[in-house]
Amino acid sequence: MGWFNSLVVATVPITPPPLVRIFAARYIAGDKLENAVKVVKTLNERGIMATVDVLGESVTKKEQARQAVEEYKLVLSAIAENKLDANISLKPTQFGLKIDYNFCYANIEELVVEAEKYGIFVRIDMEDFTCTDDTFKMTLELMKKHKNIGTVIQAKLHRTINDVETTLVGNKVNLRLCKGGTYNEPRKIAWAGKEIVRQNFITCLDMLFSAGCYVGIATHDERLVFEGMRLVRKHKLNRERYEFQMLLGVDRELRDIIVDEGHRLRIYVPFGKQWYAYSTRRLRENPDMAGHIMKNIFKRYEI
Ligand SMILES: Cc1cc2nc3c(=O)[nH]c(=O)nc-3n(C[C@H](O)[C@H](O)[C@H](O)COP(=O)(O)OP(=O)(O)OC[C@H]3O[C@@H](n4cnc5c(N)ncnc54)[C@H](O)[C@@H]3O)c2cc1C
Repeated sequence: MGWFNSLVVATVPITPPPLVRIFAARYIAGDKLENAVKVVKTLNERGIMATVDVLGESVTKKEQARQAVEEYKLVLSAIAENKLDANISLKPTQFGLKIDYNFCYANIEELVVEAEKYGIFVRIDMEDFTCTDDTFKMTLELMKKHKNIGTVIQAKLHRTINDVETTLVGNKVNLRLCKGGTYNEPRKIAWAGKEIVRQNFITCLDMLFSAGCYVGIATHDERLVFEGMRLVRKHKLNRERYEFQMLLGVDRELRDIIVDEGHRLRIYVPFGKQWYAYSTRRLRENPDMAGHIMKNIFKRYEI
């Protein structure tokens, strides 16, 4: 990592929020639901699907979690009303996981039921390693009653391959496979080597495809996109059996390559006022962005 990038990563925690907001504008649809609807419509017109995320996490008060339920209900009805090709992604800690498991479960189930009425799928995002067990438990419990539910696995965690083998494959869980966000896990929990994480990603994907699981291949790493395409071919999957996924604002060229090759692609579209935590994670993941943005400070990323 060059000195400028190291500096960006080191100073993220003390970067003034207004500056983070400028850096992060490309990753976020806007503050309001109407902004997200507009972005999703544009993506859909290009044959790209979306998953909508209302920004927010780690709530400490039950009222905040209940507010998130109401906000997501508005998203669900907007998806249905505007006939968008989109589902929703949500974070358990936004629904009170750190307050009380059962409270969080009830909140998420309320949304799953609401989404079911519209035929919309619900993806439970994976947060830091302290949430992994509860997130799997919740997903498996919800799957007993509802079909429109799935979660995420992180290739960087040591435990992931074991989770795939012992639980996820047998239960045919609908999974998004990603490397795992920048949650600062200790080395005994997460692989530090980038090549190991890639290798684990490929191994898990192969196992999931072999077992007939639906997988969202979530990466902007060209090598992993290539490996994903190779495994799709190897397993002779038709395009309804998997999808590629990318974050809003990242690598438009790679996005076009995936779509032009005939694969389905879904873009993660976050919106809302709670943009700070999400934005600092994106910035830590790609400090190069700070340099690009400095050069194009008044130019917004084209959808
Ligand atoms: C749709 C989607 C949903 C996700 N959901 C979760 C989740 O639930 N839980 C979780 O822990 N993680 C989640 N992630 C994040 C993921 O775990 C990685 O942290 C992130 O995708 C970066 O890994 P990468 O595979 O893209 O590879 P990297 O090696 O990090 O990136 C490859 C290349 O992509 C580009 N790039 C990567 N990130 C950025 C960026 N922020 N801005 C600009 N360019 C960038 C760079 O050019 C980089 O060289 C999700 C990612 C995606 C795409």
